[in-house]
Amino acid sequence: MEDSIQYVLHHSTLRLPAGRGTGVSTMARVQFEQGPIRPPSEAYSLLLRVTRNCPWNRCEFCHTYKKEKFSLRSVEEVKKDIDAVQVIVSEVRALSWRYGFGGEVTVPLVNLILKDPEHQEDGFRSVALWLYEGGKNVFLQDGDNLILKTGQMVEILEYLKKTFPSIERITTYARAKTVSKKRVDEVGELHRAGLSRIHIGLESGYDFLLQYMKKGVTACEHVEAGRKVKESGISLSEYVILGLGGKGMWREHALETAKVLNQINPDFIRVRTLKVLKTMPLYRKIEEGEFVPLTDDEIVEEERLLIQHLEGITSTFVSDHILNLLQEVEGRLPEEKEKMLKSIDRYLALGNDEKNNFRLGRRIGIYQSVEDLSKPGLRDRVDKVLHQVESERPGGIEKVLSDIMESFI
Ligand code: SF4
Repeated sequence: MEDSIQYVLHHSTLRLPAGRGTGVSTMARVQFEQGPIRPPSEAYSLLLRVTRNCPWNRCEFCHTYKKEKFSLRSVEEVKKDIDAVQVIVSEVRALSWRYGFGGEVTVPLVNLILKDPEHQEDGFRSVALWLYEGGKNVFLQDGDNLILKTGQMVEILEYLKKTFPSIERITTYARAKTVSKKRVDEVGELHRAGLSRIHIGLESGYDFLLQYMKKGVTACEHVEAGRKVKESGISLSEYVILGLGGKGMWREHALETAKVLNQINPDFIRVRTLKVLKTMPLYRKIEEGEFVPLTDDEIVEEERLLIQHLEGITSTFVSDHILNLLQEVEGRLPEEKEKMLKSIDRYLALGNDEKNNFRLGRRIGIYQSVEDLSKPGLRDRVDKVLHQVESERPGGIEKVLSDIMESFI
């Protein structure tokens, strides 16, 4: 079973579980810059900052870059960072020799580095983890790297591949609006230079909701951008926010999102659950009673409706975010659609006490799936915590669950 650090790494979007730091990792002689987040699937990728923050920065549900200003980084600056990573790679290897691991980056070496106060810099630790994972994957930060001129991006990609021939996959975030303005042949150029996957925040396919949440893109532009990425040969991940429609628009959110995804047929559909923090503009709308968030059960119903209407596509549905209640709802479409719906129904068929037991047990890391409820001893363990929570904590289980979810973002 994964330990808690690995679990958080795998399922959260933060670059390291320790937090967001200063964005600059320093060593005695070299430094390279890292942004605050990456997709959960890039937990062990090398994180390389190509632009800073988000050029749009207006989405109501997003707080990641709200206090930060967007800026481009020059190709020379990024190349210097790639050189810095190369120096750190040599230092990690040297450390391995010094500790008697023969230059290999092994579990004991990584553990030593993670615990060693001399190597607390995020950059050093993440390069060590990256090498441990084979030095194969790189994620380019921050929010919208396709905003760079195609030629500049190509230069960065080629330099990266030349410096580290072990690289097999290079991925990035991009806004659909930006991609929709590129020509297919430009996106194809990026693919030929080594860009393997683009992660796009679809969030919703419902135009009214996209506008309400100030996403700055229409459903039509989402389809156009998604199709361009697919046509270019680059793998495409589309992110959907479960719960984004709230009580007022959940049905339209699910149905229209399914429609857009059906037109794109992305390689991956990844879901993450909405959790609104005070630092997000959407919080004000909740306080004013304008936006009413869904309960866990309602979000599961919404997810069901979404999956039910995914038709004629061959995407892989992934639930890899720590905020999601039902992480077992994953599979290839169309063949595993029924299996996913059954997993959802299994949760929905539970009684209220069982549901509360599962919701708490999942969020404190005791359960991985609804099936775990029948594993001997687990349910009693969670029940004990549940009773304690209900008798001692003001606000009871809902407040505790909300606090736990807040701690994940
Ligand atoms: S485009 Fe992405 S990074 Fe930018 S504000 Fe919206 S959700 Fe946040």
